[in-house]
This record gives sequence, structure tokens and C-alpha cells, in this order.
Amino acid sequence: AWITLEGGDGSGKTTQSNLLADWLADAGHTVVRTREPGGSEVGQLIRDIVLHHRGDIAPRAEALLYAADRAHHVATVVRPALERGEIVLQDRYLDSSVAYQGAGRVLDGTEIRDLSLWAAEGALPDLTLLLDLDPAAARRRLDSADKPFDRLEAEKAEFHGRVRDAYLALAAAEPERFLVLDATASVDDIAAQIRERVAALLD
Ligand code: C5P
Ligand code: MG
Repeated sequence: AWITLEGGDGSGKTTQSNLLADWLADAGHTVVRTREPGGSEVGQLIRDIVLHHRGDIAPRAEALLYAADRAHHVATVVRPALERGEIVLQDRYLDSSVAYQGAGRVLDGTEIRDLSLWAAEGALPDLTLLLDLDPAAARRRLDSADKPFDRLEAEKAEFHGRVRDAYLALAAAEPERFLVLDATASVDDIAAQIRERVAALLD
């Protein structure tokens, strides 16, 4: 099974991913944890460009860099793991691209999605967990976290508002793939909702 986590920066993806991975491992599953961008060696190089390049990257170039990361990652990490019967637990996938490179950068969301599907030969996760959080609340969390900002975390509030709206639209368009979680709920409460849905998926 293939499970992806989505949501804005500071929405709690890492926390929930850690809890879910532990729970799955305790139940005897082999879990492959991975992420985009940067889930492969080539991807690490691409991640360094998209997150740490000083200065602008043309929006279409950025979209293609994410697509290149995705193509290599799905071909060399995700598909092989799924073929071995393992559970792939992945931080961010094509919905991130539709939200960030699409709505965030104001490229066409359908084109971005089609580009991603081409890159990944049509691969879609079994379940996508969307941690939904108002960007102002996310900003407060990130400010109090006291860690250096990524290039994109520093984008203005308006950008993050478009990203959030795009995520919610994606979830509404594919309700069977998405579980939308209110990221202001307690960590335990969110984790319980996730476990319930994942248990049904693996049943
Ligand atoms: O998920 P993670 O924190 O590793 O993402 C790093 C940064 O890359 C975030 O600031 C996120 O907003 C950005 N990103 C993006 N487009 C993607 C994936 C991530 O702009 N497709
Ligand atoms: Mg981050």
C-alpha cells in the first residue's frame, strides 16, 4: 500500500508520519519512509536546487525539477517497494506540485497534474492524508519552532492561502483517495483518525 502525507509547512506531517510508521512497524509491516523532493540520491541533488538555490527559479523550470525528482523517485524507490509488498509512507507527492507549483506559482493546475502523472507513469497513492491548517496558524507554529526557513516557507501569506485552497479542492475532487484532517486537533486525536482509516485500507 502507498500512503502519502500532504499539507502546508507546519501542518504536522512529520509528527503524524512518525506515529503512523511506528504503529505500522509494531503491527509487523515493513514500512519504507520516503519523501519528495529528495527521496532518492538524484532527488537529493534536485531538492538542494529547489529549496536552497539563492534567487528565483522560473516557475516552469521549478515545476520540471519537481517532476524530474518524482519520475526518478517513483521508478527507483516507490514502485520497487510496492512490488516487494512493502508499505510506502511518503511525505508529499503530486498533490504538493498541484498546490505549490500550480496554485502557489499560478501555473495551470491541470497541466501540473498531467506533467506529474506523465513523470510517474500514472502512479497514484492508495491513500492521501491531508493535514489542513489555516496559513496564519501554520506561520505561528513555524515562527515558534526556531529553525531556519526553507526558501518556500518564507513565501508570503497569500501564496500559502492559495496552496491551502488548492489542497482542499484536490481532496474534494477525489474524496475516496483523501482523508482530510483538521490539523488544529490534538496530535493523538489526528493519529487515531489516521490509524482507523489505514486499518481499513490494509484490511
Ligand atoms: O515537505 P518539506 O518541508 O520537506 O518541503 C520543503 C519545502 O518545499 C516546503 O517549503 C514546501 O513548501 C516546498 N515544496 C514545494 N513544492 C513541492 C514540494 C515541496 O514548493 N512540490
Ligand atoms: Mg518543511
